[in-house]
Amino acid sequence: MESSTFVLFGATGDLAKRKIYPALYNLFLDGQISGPLSVIGLGRREVSNEAFRKQILQSLQTFSRQPAVDSPQLQVFLEAFEYSVLDVGNTEDYFKLLEHVKRREQLFNIPENRMFYLSVGPEFFKEIAANIHSSGLGSTKGWKRLIIEKPFGTDLKSARELNDSLNAVFTEEEIFRIDHFLGKPMVQNLEVLKYSNPVLRALWKNRYIANVQITASETVGVEERAGYYDKAGALRDMFQNHMLQLLMMMAMQLPKGSTPEEIRGKKRYVMEHLIPISKDEVNKHVVRGQYAEGEMKGNSVAGYLNEPGINQSSQNETFIAARLFIDDPLWNEVPFYVRTGKRMKEKSTRIVIEFKEPFNDSNNLNKGNDVPNLLIIEIGPNEAITLQLNTKDQLQKGKLEPVLATYEAGTSDVPEAYENLIFDALRGDATFFAHWREVELSWQWVTPIQEAMEEGLMPLHTYASGSYGPDAAMELLGEDRWWFDE
Ligand code: NAD
Repeated sequence: MESSTFVLFGATGDLAKRKIYPALYNLFLDGQISGPLSVIGLGRREVSNEAFRKQILQSLQTFSRQPAVDSPQLQVFLEAFEYSVLDVGNTEDYFKLLEHVKRREQLFNIPENRMFYLSVGPEFFKEIAANIHSSGLGSTKGWKRLIIEKPFGTDLKSARELNDSLNAVFTEEEIFRIDHFLGKPMVQNLEVLKYSNPVLRALWKNRYIANVQITASETVGVEERAGYYDKAGALRDMFQNHMLQLLMMMAMQLPKGSTPEEIRGKKRYVMEHLIPISKDEVNKHVVRGQYAEGEMKGNSVAGYLNEPGINQSSQNETFIAARLFIDDPLWNEVPFYVRTGKRMKEKSTRIVIEFKEPFNDSNNLNKGNDVPNLLIIEIGPNEAITLQLNTKDQLQKGKLEPVLATYEAGTSDVPEAYENLIFDALRGDATFFAHWREVELSWQWVTPIQEAMEEGLMPLHTYASGSYGPDAAMELLGEDRWWFDE
């Protein structure tokens, strides 16, 4: 990995403090950043370098997985940061930034490799990219790359427009679209789990898999994000990006040792073969809901409509569940049940694979016992892999009982999503970033749902805070059931 200058737009923001500084610090401590680290933080307010470094120190002390104790290393890390004022719309500021970047490149003998990280609101993305171009910041002898946060558009049309304007300055290979779910260690582990375990590989087909369930449930409500969330809803905020990315990662089939390009090609294949839902079929396959008041851990909490900043007649969804099918010989007729919501009973991101009873065997010991084999992949907050098997319960006259064989991964030593992603972007590996085609196909897939919502064709079910979502989401599964809703 060659050294580079890290140019951070939105350096005084929440994401920078909670995720980006701790990630850079941990990479630095682990010796993963080659050459001198040089970061230029940008924000609208005037902040001295000293005050900026104090903010970073505070962020490390609050959020870093490795302690930020006073040490020569910590000092070297903090001194790598300088601050510049930059108003996104002020072209002069970009010329000043270019001078700043060049000064530091010369001072530390850093080649003209520039990483531009846009940790600012999406309304600024186009303008920043255009100014990077017109100021000459993007004309480098080395590489230039762009890391961009979600949301990438609000629908298919706006996403295409945004992509066109970014492509005027950066090529697809230079754009690293963050979907932080792809940085999570257990998501990155999915592929290895499949191809390095012949036991699983052998069963990874519709003959043996009954259904796949992907859940990302949150316990929090809308919090301080009313302005954004009341327009976005669960479909745009979670489903179009994180949930469909999890589905792609789960469903793709890869030979061992695939290249990043092959991996992304397989993900695109999944999206290209995801059977579209037409607007008039949406209600058969998709359920949306909004949380009402309820109880969370013994405390009563307000319903969505009574949250600060939310319009009392809001029809926005805080929950969405869908049944999807993939048109591929491997997955034919295997439903993928996907759901996500706020104010649900537990905080959990999890994939459950329910296996079938494929053998029509009259001697089958398992006959009459309704407990299928399950593979449960816990992605967060805990990371674990569990296999549910049936065994004989000797105390119950040999009756079958399900047991769980669990491997618990994840300790405080495991790098966090942002560490993995920033490290990959710095070395130019785009495997765990969303390719434009994936984003475009995802928007395309959700368009009929967006339209059905806008045209008032979809009922909005309510669900009690602290529950697992509306009853309609249970009914969506027909004879199947969501596992672990207890
Ligand atoms: P934030 O509001 O806390 O910070 C925004 C930053 O942008 C600040 O540093 C501010 O100085 C800067 N800024 C605002 N207007 C500016 C202007 N005119 N010129 C220059 N700088 C300006 O936002 P955040 O929570 O840090 O989020 C940043 C981005 O990351 C957003 O795109 C958000 O959607 C995305 N995101 C955030 C999170 C999160 O957990 N916070 C998660 C996922 C995605």
